Amino acid sequence: MLLLNPKNLTRAYPDERSREIMLKTIAFFEKKGKARLKADDRAGVWYADFLDFVKAERIFATLLTPAGYGAANARWDTWRFCEFAEILGFYGLQYWYTWQVSVLGLGPIWMSHNEELKQRAARLLEEGAIFALGLSEKEHGADLYSTDMLLVPVGEGVYRAQGDKYYIGNANKAAMVSTFGRLGEGGPYVFFVADSQRDKYECVQNVCNSQSYVAEFRLHDYPVTEADVLSKGDAAWDAALNTVNIGKFNLGWASIGICTHAFYEAINHAANRRLYGMYVTDFPHVRQMLTDAYVRLVAMKLVALRAADYMRSASAADRRYLLYNPVVKMKVTTQGEDVINHLWDVIAAKGFENSMYFEMAARDIRALPKLEGTVHVNIALIVKFMANYFFNPAACAPVPRRSDAANDAFLFDQGPTKGLGAIRFHDYHAAYASRDLPNVNVFEEQIAAFAQLLAEATPDEAQRKDIDFLMAVGELFALVVYGQLALENASIYAVADDVIDQIFDVFVRDFSRFAVQLYTKPTTTPEQMACCLRMIRKPAVDDARYQRVWTTQVHALKGAYEMNP
Ligand SMILES: Cc1cc2nc3c(=O)[nH]c(=O)nc-3n(C[C@H](O)[C@H](O)[C@H](O)COP(=O)(O)OP(=O)(O)OC[C@H]3O[C@@H](n4cnc5c(N)ncnc54)[C@H](O)[C@@H]3O)c2cc1C
Repeated sequence: MLLLNPKNLTRAYPDERSREIMLKTIAFFEKKGKARLKADDRAGVWYADFLDFVKAERIFATLLTPAGYGAANARWDTWRFCEFAEILGFYGLQYWYTWQVSVLGLGPIWMSHNEELKQRAARLLEEGAIFALGLSEKEHGADLYSTDMLLVPVGEGVYRAQGDKYYIGNANKAAMVSTFGRLGEGGPYVFFVADSQRDKYECVQNVCNSQSYVAEFRLHDYPVTEADVLSKGDAAWDAALNTVNIGKFNLGWASIGICTHAFYEAINHAANRRLYGMYVTDFPHVRQMLTDAYVRLVAMKLVALRAADYMRSASAADRRYLLYNPVVKMKVTTQGEDVINHLWDVIAAKGFENSMYFEMAARDIRALPKLEGTVHVNIALIVKFMANYFFNPAACAPVPRRSDAANDAFLFDQGPTKGLGAIRFHDYHAAYASRDLPNVNVFEEQIAAFAQLLAEATPDEAQRKDIDFLMAVGELFALVVYGQLALENASIYAVADDVIDQIFDVFVRDFSRFAVQLYTKPTTTPEQMACCLRMIRKPAVDDARYQRVWTTQVHALKGAYEMNP
């Protein structure tokens, strides 16, 4: 089965330590139980129990130390990241968050040439420390160019840090806070480390209402020397963007974990509840919503797993991950919102109950599309790849499933963040040709109409500058890439034709919806509108297939998992 079931873990690992980490993490949460999990969430309790467990089991030390800096089994291995992030999301976004912001905080450190700081980070990981990334500021949001955190030079290689950071996870306890700013007013960018426990570092407040500590912190002439500096100039800028490249991939996995737990709760409730002498799951609309939720979730997982393969196989010559990664970020996380919406419509009042994980899921699923670059920022990024993706394919080496025990060293050596428009991709037609199924075929016809719009009714200069117009185009493009990744992994994981056809039943409807959005934009031309009309299609109806998916895949999950009370 593709979905995570913590009580029946089936994922393969090349080493025992990886599997041990997953099993122990699950055991921690199942021992804690749902009642306590929920009580801590409500009371906003700092998760010291989880961090004590992580420290005792050296979990972050194994997962977050690249090969060569820690124990023999320590490596930066995206294959095991996927399941670890999924498990943490499954039990609560707050647990995932303290891990995630440690990943982010370590990014500029492992990318740095400051060996002493790297050795310090490795030691601190062994001691059970957590980390933070200080990028965001209250006034500047996504606009990193405007950072006003300053390192003021006060002597040869000696500085005073002055400024404020906002929305910084773990910044109440982090042993190393990778902080982004400028070297003197208007000077080059810089990354340096600050220690949250030192003098002149003021943790002002938790700006969010949660177990996580999302801090505002202020540096009051905090002393910094050259030994605390991670990178300067272009290297600091690239480290900021390249760190987010790595980190934002994990947001998809948090969504997948959240949706999977919520799905088990929803099917258990709906399939056992009787109204008017029948089960709630006997209502046709309930079956449709649960089936849509299920296949959306399977697709989320196929896509995120496939994108991980490209991340792990990336090199200076193969940067396809720079498209697939933001697609995971914006698309998997918004699909997660759709899944929760479907499920909530099914379980209605039950989704509010304080005994349900669902109540947390309904709140937390909203965060993932907004953090580490909003959906808009990521769509604005991916449209840069669109021309080459459609019209300039290249012969690229095929990328296999990457479940091997490799250290993903390239992620800390990604190089300059420029030149995105020059990146080339393999021909997406190959993935779409891999399954001759009615809804995949309808979807291919929709793509052809979209490609025709781009080629023959090409958006003009004004439309390309209109971000609102671009968002509608970007949603269509993202779905093409999403479908390609899902199909590539459908072959690798031998996913049944029925499930794939049902996934594309949903995609055909989504593509039609996005086509209507593009049609209705103020500047869409008559030629573009005609293409949009050809993109609006009805999925191929096959009731027998639909019933098989419902019975053997969706309803079959009734009772498959329930968290310990
Ligand atoms: C719970 C939580 C935890 C966080 N943790 C951290 C952390 O640990 N470290 C850290 O550094 N930050 C953290 N952040 C900050 C987070 O990454 C930012 O909130 C996020 O990047 C978006 O910035 P903003 O909310 O200020 O939106 P703004 O930047 O103010 O954006 C406003 C609007 O403009 C749009 N927009 C902005 N730029 C563009 C663009 N280029 N193209 C198209 N549209 C655009 C946005 O989509 C949005 O609709 C956290 C935030 C939260 C809420």
